[in-house]
Amino acid sequence: MSEKRTEIGEIGEFGLIDRLNEKIVIKHETTLKGVGDDAAVIACGEGKVKVVTTDLLMEGVHFDLSYAPLTHLGFKAVAVNVSDVAAMNAIPKHITVSIGISNRFSVEAVEALYAGINAAAEHYDVDVVGGDTTTSRAGLAISITAIGEAMEDQVVYRSGAKENDIICVTGDLGGAVVGLQVLEREKQVFMANPNMKPDLEKYTLVTARQLKPDARMDIIHELRDLEVVPTSMMDISDGLASELFHICKASKVGVTIYEDKLPIDQQTYSTAVELNLDPITCVLNGGEDYELLFTIKQEDFQKLEKHPDIHFIGHVTKEEEGKFLVTKSQTAVALKAQGWKHF
Ligand SMILES: [Mg+2]
Repeated sequence: MSEKRTEIGEIGEFGLIDRLNEKIVIKHETTLKGVGDDAAVIACGEGKVKVVTTDLLMEGVHFDLSYAPLTHLGFKAVAVNVSDVAAMNAIPKHITVSIGISNRFSVEAVEALYAGINAAAEHYDVDVVGGDTTTSRAGLAISITAIGEAMEDQVVYRSGAKENDIICVTGDLGGAVVGLQVLEREKQVFMANPNMKPDLEKYTLVTARQLKPDARMDIIHELRDLEVVPTSMMDISDGLASELFHICKASKVGVTIYEDKLPIDQQTYSTAVELNLDPITCVLNGGEDYELLFTIKQEDFQKLEKHPDIHFIGHVTKEEEGKFLVTKSQTAVALKAQGWKHF
């Protein structure tokens, strides 16, 4: 008798997560939100909550040390977790740092990694409060857990978007994936001819987007100052289209977004064209931008209208209306969620 074997590729990463989550039983009333949002939410009494999120970065999957400096990698590992805390409208306070490391790395190399972690801890005003270190047989692994604080009524979930809400994104999108393509191309050039010096000068913005992303805590503080609580929010780690699908699923709504409203930086655009990539595909499906995607009530629009770094890209519709992108030629095309695939 043969045991059933399902390949992970058959059900995909999200399919695997769904299948594992089915077996989780929540036992405590303090668990306000378990799996299924950017971070878990745990009640702490007096209307306060902690949010908890964790992320595992694997060498060869999430980063390539032939072009990712260890210091930047340390910074990024913290930033991606802070970004998930921000996505809950919470303030990060503590992180733990665990690493698996092989004897390929020197003490100085590990110190370089930690220099980036400590710089990010300073930048985001969080304390490093623990972690674990272990030997790895192959490659470097970094796992960071971030803990943030908020009042329960300030927490923003993916599930709160309502019909007619305005869809907002911060910053610009697509830069990180374009930066990754540039770095990959220069790596190939270098491997073919090690005497060639990589020419990255004109790509500094997009490569920085890939190597050293910044979580948008600035926006979270500004929203508080402007007294705007988004109706739903998440960070853009897998690509705008994929994240919109998550909000639609959690909120039971549809969306319409407009191509001419999507924020793209000039360097991202021109580099994408140079690499024969469609800039809009980079914006929709690129991922790793770590900007914020959120929805607001129409009545809050005026408070954000003049903000230089918040862009209004569309609106929330009824679930049965579906998910559409209106192109520059005024054609509505169905949005497709094509996030990355690591498996
Ligand atoms: Mg997230």
